[in-house]
Amino acid sequence: MRKYSVFAIAREALRGHRGWPEQWSSPEPKKNYDVIIVGAGGHGLGTAYYLAKEHGITNVAVLEKGWLGGGNTGRNTTIIRSNYLYDESAGIYDHSVRLWDGLSQDLNYNVMYSPRGVMMLAHNVHDVQVFKRHIHANRLNGVDNEWLTPEEAKAFCPPLNISREARYPVMGAALQRRGGTARHDAVAWGYARAAAARGVDIIQNCEVTGINRGPDGAVTGVETTRGTIGAKKVGVVAAGHSSVLMQMAGVQVPLESYPLQALVSEPVKPVFPCVVMSNTVHAYISQSDKGELVIGAGTDQYTSYSQTGGLHIIQHTLDAICEMFPIFTRMKMLRSWGGIVDVTPDRSPILAKTPVSGLYVNCGWGTGGFKATPGSAHVFAHTVARDEPHPVNAPFTLERFRNGRLIDEAAAAAVAH
Ligand SMILES: Cc1cc2nc3c(=O)[nH]c(=O)nc-3n(C[C@H](O)[C@H](O)[C@H](O)COP(=O)(O)OP(=O)(O)OC[C@H]3O[C@@H](n4cnc5c(N)ncnc54)[C@H](O)[C@@H]3O)c2cc1C
Repeated sequence: MRKYSVFAIAREALRGHRGWPEQWSSPEPKKNYDVIIVGAGGHGLGTAYYLAKEHGITNVAVLEKGWLGGGNTGRNTTIIRSNYLYDESAGIYDHSVRLWDGLSQDLNYNVMYSPRGVMMLAHNVHDVQVFKRHIHANRLNGVDNEWLTPEEAKAFCPPLNISREARYPVMGAALQRRGGTARHDAVAWGYARAAAARGVDIIQNCEVTGINRGPDGAVTGVETTRGTIGAKKVGVVAAGHSSVLMQMAGVQVPLESYPLQALVSEPVKPVFPCVVMSNTVHAYISQSDKGELVIGAGTDQYTSYSQTGGLHIIQHTLDAICEMFPIFTRMKMLRSWGGIVDVTPDRSPILAKTPVSGLYVNCGWGTGGFKATPGSAHVFAHTVARDEPHPVNAPFTLERFRNGRLIDEAAAAAVAH
């Protein structure tokens, strides 16, 4: 891999940038691999990277039915935080936040991680109590989170309307200063480049259509639109289509897939210094480095595999944004889009071995898995390589839906994203 550095940029500037090699190659699939990862989103590419880097397993293919990063990884609003309620969640999300911190250096790729602070607004007494409980629980787990009065919230984010007359009055906020954003497609590209440099084959336009099993029931490989490919181990990391893939191996997973939408405004000068989330009115907002306001909405009420969503959902979101930030009332929206999110009953992910030998699954991240990309990939690679969970993902089993040991972030306030 050609290392990116200030010297390389200067050298290429002098010769018309003709010397840059492809960031990753596009090989034909081999007949056999040690490990196949299905899905070239951030979690799948990251898994391949850590398999190679930390476990020395380089005979790996990442198979992607579309283009790399074209799933939820390239469609999300990039919020990163770890202030979840339960110990298990704080463990996995904070593992991620710690990895985000050095990720650009590790990958030699600027993922534009920006810990600018994530502020969650409380609009009623219930919100205040729930957020204060979260703050205490987070601190016990060594995760930073602090309570702000409405005035302190406005000082942190000046466009915020804290008038008591507002339809959604702000009664305070929980602030995680280490939370923030990163550039989503750079995360996919950075992992792809670093994994390819270690020998991983990244194969786009290759849809997995079947999972093959031998006479003993163990996985032997996959059927794809580019032929049969053998593998001793298969990791399914396919977000909204995870249940479709698991069905191919006869494994049922408790997932529902919903469209989730986001939109961006016309670009303006820097006016919005942090990330603000309001779960009660279900709107959240930040500003990208290009200047666009990045706005997220809630999921549709109906399950679907279409990557669009209902107009009324984004209308409601924009109502709430204008109420909370009146200075944006006259802004124009440029684009909106949807992704398909994979939602479990307790809103916590599944990162585990399955009842089928050699088959592993990493799914159920729902509306909030971007923040977990490095941590999830890191512990999932451990699970696949060693055939046993890493302590961080040990609680995130499939069995918990059978034995009732849920990690119920849904009940714990269900703050999405
Ligand atoms: C609008 C929106 C906003 C969001 N906002 C946030 C946020 O602010 N913060 C946050 O933390 N999370 C957020 N999320 C959630 C986050 O995007 C996801 O949880 C995360 O990106 C999932 O990553 P992934 O790599 O698992 O999935 P993906 O990036 O979706 O990758 C899965 C890949 O599998 C491929 N695939 C599927 N079936 C097959 C097959 N049969 N064969 C081969 N390949 C297949 C798909 O094409 C896809 O590329 C948001 C999601 C959406 C849609």
